[in-house]
Amino acid sequence: MSKVNLKSIEEIELMAESALLVSKTLGMLAAEIKPGINTLYLDNLAEAFIRDHNAKPGFLGLYDFPNTLCVSPNEQVVHGIPNETLLKEGDIISIDCGVFKNGFYGDHAYTFFVGEINYKTKKLLDITKQSLYNGINKFRKGNRIGDIGYEIQSYCESNGYGVVRELVGHGIGISMHEAPEVPNYGKRGKGKKIENGMVLAIEPMINMGSHKIKQLEDGWTIITEDGLPSAHFEHNVALIDGKPKLLSTFKYIEEALGIKSNQELPFKL
Ligand code: MG
Ligand code: MG
Repeated sequence: MSKVNLKSIEEIELMAESALLVSKTLGMLAAEIKPGINTLYLDNLAEAFIRDHNAKPGFLGLYDFPNTLCVSPNEQVVHGIPNETLLKEGDIISIDCGVFKNGFYGDHAYTFFVGEINYKTKKLLDITKQSLYNGINKFRKGNRIGDIGYEIQSYCESNGYGVVRELVGHGIGISMHEAPEVPNYGKRGKGKKIENGMVLAIEPMINMGSHKIKQLEDGWTIITEDGLPSAHFEHNVALIDGKPKLLSTFKYIEEALGIKSNQELPFKL
């Protein structure tokens, strides 16, 4: 797990296709998320959509995970299993999706509102998403992996939030999880050197309260120990010419939701 597989431009182009298929899947789901639907419905839609695009769900069967999506409402941090519980007004739901296409994985995530949510929860989502872009901005030649985590941690903690320690971002490629690990906390100037051809899944998991988490008895679902909400945003990013280029995009989601954003402009392919 410690050797970093650097990718050629041709490989990065294929990876962009995988990442973009995840982006489109999440965009398709964005239009479906409302009070009264259940997450198994979203899972079935996602699996059919991915297979229709000549790809395979990336999570289904990976480490024996039972579904296409990880769906984690409210106090669930990540790795929630789709089920028939109805979503209700005021919930938030983190959806993490992976695909495998042309020999490469894509893996990214977004936390959605269900109907109207309160100001405090909306702020958690906004700060977590911004922390992802702040972290991506430190993924540059001359920096180290610790610079990414430092940036995410300092920004989120200055807003009073807890940064999950036990779960981290990762390299991605022919395997879903490759070296290096990309913690959402860290020290400036520490960790592996950032190099051209690195492709990372950067994914802050940020809690409204304490950073502490626990796992449910299903062996998968991670929840906050204090029961407060948690948010998760993830992008796949490649280092090209010393600079971060996004392979995934929230464009399809934000179009479906009617959100205007130019956060991604500095990092586009
Ligand atoms: Mg993910
Ligand atoms: Mg990931």
